[in-house]
Amino acid sequence: MYLSARVDKEKCIGCRLCITSCPEPNVFKFLPEEKLVEVNDSRCKACGLCTTVCPKDALKIS
Ligand code: SF4
Ligand code: SF4
Repeated sequence: MYLSARVDKEKCIGCRLCITSCPEPNVFKFLPEEKLVEVNDSRCKACGLCTTVCPKDALKIS
């Protein structure tokens, strides 16, 4: 498994701040029905930037 940002689906509110913060293209996908995001872990570089902007502490690198 890749070292990657992981989304806690119980905490995510779908604000999309993480998508704005991520320097890599197409890592996050917004799921409008569920109002949350998912991470393409093969694209994530595990830089940790998104974890610093999430207002719900829903992102962890693991
Ligand atoms: S850890 Fe970095 S590369 Fe990975 S999703 Fe977060 S901001 Fe993007
Ligand atoms: S910043 Fe946090 S709460 Fe907002 S969409 Fe991303 S993971 Fe969800």
